[in-house]
Amino acid sequence: MGIRSGDEYRDSLRDGRRVWMHGERVEDVTKHPAFQPMVDAIARMYDMQHEARYQEVMTFQLPSGERASRFYKLPETPEDLAGIRAMTLALLDEVGGVVDRFGSETATPLFVMYDRRPLLAKYDPRYVRSVEHWLQRCQAEDLFMTSGNTDPKGDRSKQPFEQDDPDLYLRVVSERDDGILIRGAKYETGAAYAHVAFVKPTVGQWRPENRDYAVACIVPLNSPGLKHICRAPLLQTAQAFDRPLSSRFDEIDTLMVFEDVLVPWDSVIFCRQPELASLIRHELHRWGAHAYLLRSLAKADLLVGTACLLAEQNRSIASPAVKEQIAHLMVYREAVHAFILASEAAYERTESGLVMPNQSIAYAGRLYTALHYHEMVHVLRNLAGGSAVLIPDERTLRSPETGPCLEKYYRVGATPAEDRLRVLNLAAELTSTSFAGHKQAYQLFAESPPANQAMILYGAYDREASMRRARRIVGLGEPAG
Ligand SMILES: Cc1cc2nc3c(=O)[nH]c(=O)nc-3n(C[C@H](O)[C@H](O)[C@H](O)COP(=O)(O)OP(=O)(O)OC[C@H]3O[C@@H](n4cnc5c(N)ncnc54)[C@H](O)[C@@H]3O)c2cc1C
Repeated sequence: MGIRSGDEYRDSLRDGRRVWMHGERVEDVTKHPAFQPMVDAIARMYDMQHEARYQEVMTFQLPSGERASRFYKLPETPEDLAGIRAMTLALLDEVGGVVDRFGSETATPLFVMYDRRPLLAKYDPRYVRSVEHWLQRCQAEDLFMTSGNTDPKGDRSKQPFEQDDPDLYLRVVSERDDGILIRGAKYETGAAYAHVAFVKPTVGQWRPENRDYAVACIVPLNSPGLKHICRAPLLQTAQAFDRPLSSRFDEIDTLMVFEDVLVPWDSVIFCRQPELASLIRHELHRWGAHAYLLRSLAKADLLVGTACLLAEQNRSIASPAVKEQIAHLMVYREAVHAFILASEAAYERTESGLVMPNQSIAYAGRLYTALHYHEMVHVLRNLAGGSAVLIPDERTLRSPETGPCLEKYYRVGATPAEDRLRVLNLAAELTSTSFAGHKQAYQLFAESPPANQAMILYGAYDREASMRRARRIVGLGEPAG
C-alpha cells in the first residue's frame, strides 16, 4: 500500500473499534469532537509525506521501490538518527504543536527487538518471525502504532502475581494453537485513533513467578474483546482563541481493556518469558529517549518564544531582570538541544550493528529534561503574571457591550488587546490550564517514572572511567581482577 494519505488514515479508523467517552459509545472517532482535532493533526502528518517539500525528510525507499515512513527505517547509519530529528521537528513545526504521540517513539521498541533477534531465536524462532513480520507491516501499511506499557498495577508494594485480582497487570490466560489469549488493561495515549498497539511489560522486577505477565505482542486496536475506555477531554467549553493548544492537541489517553483478546502467534513478540521482560525494560528506550528529547525541544522552544512575546508586548523586555528570566528558559532549551546533538554525534553501535544515540548522554538528557520542565513552566508563569489566568474570553472581546473595555484595558501602546489576549492564552495553556497540568505530568512520567529512568542511566553510564580518575588522584591502584 505504501504511504497513506490523511483521508485514507481517517477511513481506516472506521473499523468497528469499540471506544467509550463519558461512558457512551463513540460511533466514529473521526467525527467526535473529543478526537477530531487530533485525528486532523495526524491526518495532516500523513498528507505531508506526499508533498514534494517534505517527502525526502519524512519517507525512505523500501527495496520494493515503495516509500515508507522514516519512523520505521531501521537506524543503520548516523544519518538515520539525524533524519529522525529532521522529520520530528518538521512535523511539529508544520502542525504548530505540542504533540507527543504520533509514532516517533512508539516504533522504536520494534528496533530493540529486531536488534535482539539472535537472543529471541534462542527462546522461540516464532518471536523473530513476529518482529520481522510487524516491522514489514508497519513499513508497508504505514501504520500508526501506540505503546501499551503501563498497567493499572493495583497495590504498588506487591508483584503482579501477588495482587488480589490477577488481572491488575496484563497477563496470558492461555496458549492455543492459533495464538494466545490475553486479559488485563494498559494505559495508552492516542489509542482511540491509532492502528495497532505494541503491548509490553511495565517497570518492575521480572521474577519467574511473574511468568504469566511477561508478555509482549502487537494488537490491532479494533480487535474483538478490546475496549477503549477514554478519559474526558481537557477542553470543556472554550474555543481555539481561548485555548490554542487544548482545542487542537488534546491527545486523549485511554485505558485499554483486554477481555480475553486473541493474539495470533505471528503477533506474539514473546510469551511467558520473564528474562525477556527484564531485557526489554532495560533496552526499551535505546532510541525512545532521543525521541522524547526531540519533542521536548519543541516544547522548550515554545516556552522561550512565548516568554519573549509576552515581555515584548507588555514592554518589560528591556529589563535585565526579565532578560535573565528568559535566559533561564534559553539554557533549558539549549541544554535539551545539546543532549540531542551530542547523543547523535557520540552514537554507539548495538550488538547487531544498528546505530543508536549515545546511551548515557540520551538517558541523562531525558532525566534532566523530565526533572526540570516544571521549573521552566514556573519561570514562564512568573513572567506572564496573574493576567494569564484572569483574562476574559473571545466572546467578551467580540461583544459590542464588553469588547471596548477589553480593547481599552488590554492594549499596550501599539499592541492591540486581541494580540495580547492571544499570547496570554498561550501562556495559560503552557502554565495554568488543565492542558498545562496534563503536559507537566506527561513530561515527568513519559516512558517511565524518573526513579526508573535514573536506574537506566546508572546502568548505561561508564562508571569505571570516572572511578579510574578518582582512584588515580588519591593514589589507589587498579581494582583486582
Ligand atoms: C499524560 C500521560 C500519558 C501517558 N501515556 C502512556 C502511554 O501511552 N503508554 C503507557 O504505557 N503509559 C503511559 N503513561 C503512563 C506512564 O508511563 C506512567 O504514568 C508512569 O510509568 C508511572 O506509572 P504510574 O502512573 O502507574 O505511577 P506509579 O507506579 O503509581 O508511581 C508513582 C510514583 O511512585 C513511585 N513508586 C511506584 N511504586 C513504588 C514502589 N513500590 N516503591 C517506591 N516507589 C514507588 C514511582 O517511582 C513514581 O514516582 C502516561 C502517563 C501520562 C501522565
